[in-house]
Amino acid sequence: MNAMPIRGLVIEDDLADYILIQESLAKSQRFSYQIRHIDDFSKASEALYQDDFDFVLLDYFLGAHSGLELLQQARVIQLQRPIIVMTGSNSPELDELLMKEGAADFIPKEEVSASLLDRSIRHAIERKQAEHKIAELVRRDPLTGLGNRNIFEEHMELAIARAERTGNRLAVVFLDLDRFKDINDSLGHHVGDLLLTLIGSRLRRTVRNSDFVARIGGDEFTVLLDNISSESDVTQIVEKISRELSRPAPVNNNTLDITVSIGIALFPENGKVAIELMQKADMALYESKSRGAGSYHFFTDYLQARLIDGLEIEKELRTALQKDEFELYYQPQMDMNTEAIVGFEALIRWNKPDGTIVSPDVFIPVAVRCGLIVQIGEWVLETACRQIYNWRQDGNVKPISVNVSPRQLKYQGFLEQVLTCVQRYQIAPGLLEIELTEEALIESGPVLSAALTALQKAGIGIAIDDFGTGYSSMRYLRDFPLDRIKIDKSFVSGHDAPGICEPAITRSIISLAQGLGLEVVAEGVETVEQKAELQLQGCRICQGYLYYKPVTATVAKSLLSVSMNSPRGAKSDSGAGTE
Ligand code: C2E
Ligand code: CA
Ligand code: CA
Repeated sequence: MNAMPIRGLVIEDDLADYILIQESLAKSQRFSYQIRHIDDFSKASEALYQDDFDFVLLDYFLGAHSGLELLQQARVIQLQRPIIVMTGSNSPELDELLMKEGAADFIPKEEVSASLLDRSIRHAIERKQAEHKIAELVRRDPLTGLGNRNIFEEHMELAIARAERTGNRLAVVFLDLDRFKDINDSLGHHVGDLLLTLIGSRLRRTVRNSDFVARIGGDEFTVLLDNISSESDVTQIVEKISRELSRPAPVNNNTLDITVSIGIALFPENGKVAIELMQKADMALYESKSRGAGSYHFFTDYLQARLIDGLEIEKELRTALQKDEFELYYQPQMDMNTEAIVGFEALIRWNKPDGTIVSPDVFIPVAVRCGLIVQIGEWVLETACRQIYNWRQDGNVKPISVNVSPRQLKYQGFLEQVLTCVQRYQIAPGLLEIELTEEALIESGPVLSAALTALQKAGIGIAIDDFGTGYSSMRYLRDFPLDRIKIDKSFVSGHDAPGICEPAITRSIISLAQGLGLEVVAEGVETVEQKAELQLQGCRICQGYLYYKPVTATVAKSLLSVSMNSPRGAKSDSGAGTE
C-alpha cells in the first residue's frame, strides 16, 4: 500500500451515494484515500480553487446544477487535477460530452466498486501529470528554464481569478536589459545567451517563490508579484530587482556592466484582464526606457490618458487612409554654398475632417504600435514617387527623401513595395532616397543588409536619420550600404544661443562621415550663425526653418521653378509651413 494517502474531493449531494463511495474507497487494497466530502454546488466551486487534493470525484447531478458547470469552471481556472464524473444513467452521448468538457473519466454509479475506482483514479492522476509535464515543457523557455509568454499569461489569469476572490493585489513587472543588442553584437550570441541565463537565475533568486518569472522575448523578462500590500511594497521589490540584476555580470571571460529598465502595472488599479495589464506594464517599460537606462516606471494616469488617445487615434487612422486624409509636405534641402534647393524630405501630415492638421509625431508612433504604419508607409512611398514622376513631366525635378520606420523594414513585402513603386513611376537613379533611423539598423541583421543593397542597386539612396540620438555605432556605418548621414536637429538648434547647440558633436559626425565618404545633411538649421558654423565644419547640405519649413506640393513646385531661374530660392512665407 502507498505510504502517502491520495487526497480526493468527493462532490456528491446524495448522502447514501457518498457513503457507498466512501466504503468502496476504504476497501481499496492498493491505496489509502483521504477524502473530503462536499455536498453542494457552490461549496464545490469554491473548493476547486484550493489546491489541496489529487483528484475530484464528481456527481453529474448536483441539485439544480450539473457537473458540466464545474467541469467548465475547472477548465477556466486550469485545474491541474483530474475530475472523474459519476453518471446516473448509461448514456453514450453524455459520456462523450463529459470527455469533451475535460472529464478525465466517467463511471456509471451502479458499477462503482473498489477496484474500478482504484483503476480509474490512478489512471486519471497519471494521465493528468503526464499532460501537465508535456504542457510545462512546451511552455518553458529552453534557454533560461523560465516560463514563456503563454504560460505567463495563463499564470496571470489564474492569479487574477484568485485575487478577485481574496481581494489580494498583484503587480506585473516587465523588464528589459539596456543595450543588450550591443552586447550580443559585440561579444557574440553565445555570450548574450549566457548573460540571459544569468539574469534569469538572478531574477528567480531575487523574488519570492510564489512570484512567477518568465522570459517573454529576446531580453524581456516578466515577473508576477503575487499578494502585494502596497505600492511601496512593489517599489522596494523592484528596486531590489534592479540592484541585483545590475551587479557586474561575469560571463565567459568578461565582466559585463548591465542595467535594466522596468515597467509596472498593478491589479486591480490598472486593469483586471491579463493581456491588458501586460500591455500597460509594457507601456510603462517603454516610458522608463525613454527616460534613460536603469530606471523604473509605474503605469500612471498620464500613460492611461495616452493609451486612450492612442486607441482613439488608431480608430480614426483606419478611416483616414480610406478617406484620403493624409498629405505629404516637402521640406527643401539646401546647398548652403550655392543656396540652391538640392532635394526635399517628404513629411506626412494628417488633415482631419474638423480642419486640424495633426503632426506625425502624434500619430506615427500610434500607427507603428498598431501596425498601420505598413499601409501608411506604402501610401507615402507611392505619393512621393508620383510626385517625382509629375515633377519630371514638368521638367523640374529634385530628389525626394522618404522616412521609413523600423517596423516597415521588418515587413516582408517592403523591398518589393519599393521596387514596384520605382518601376511604376520610372524613378531614375538618384531621385528617391529612404531615411532610416539607427534603431532600424540595430534591430535587423543580414537580411536587412541584403535588402538595402538591392535598393541601392535600383538607384535608391539610403540615409541614416536622426544620427547621434540612437546607438551611433561606427559598425552600422561600415556594415550597411549608406549614402548620407543626417545630423539630428537636437545637436544643431534648440537652445537660446544662436550658434550650434553641440558643435563638438556636429564636428565629429561631419568628420566621421567624410572619412567614410558619406554626404552629411544637417537638420534643424534655424539661424545664420548655425549655418556659418556648419559650413566651417565642412557640411554643405542642410534643412531647416532658416530656409524653409515643410511646404505643400503646390508650394514645392513653385519653389522648384523659381530655383531653376535664380540660385537662391525665395524664402517661404510664414503661412506655407505647418509649424
Ligand atoms: P524627422 O524625420 O527627423 O523630420 C524632421 C522634422 O524636423 C520634421 O518634423 C520637420 O518639420 C522638423 N524640422 C525641420 N526643420 C526644422 C527646424 O529648423 N527646426 C525644428 N525645430 N524642426 C525642424 P515633422 O514633419 O513634424 O515630422 C516629425 C517626425 O515624424 C519626423 O522626424 C519623422 O520621424 C516622422 N515622420 C514624418 N513623416 C513621416 C513618414 O512619412 N513616415 C514615417 N515613418 N515617419 C514620418
Ligand atoms: Ca527624416
Ligand atoms: Ca531627422
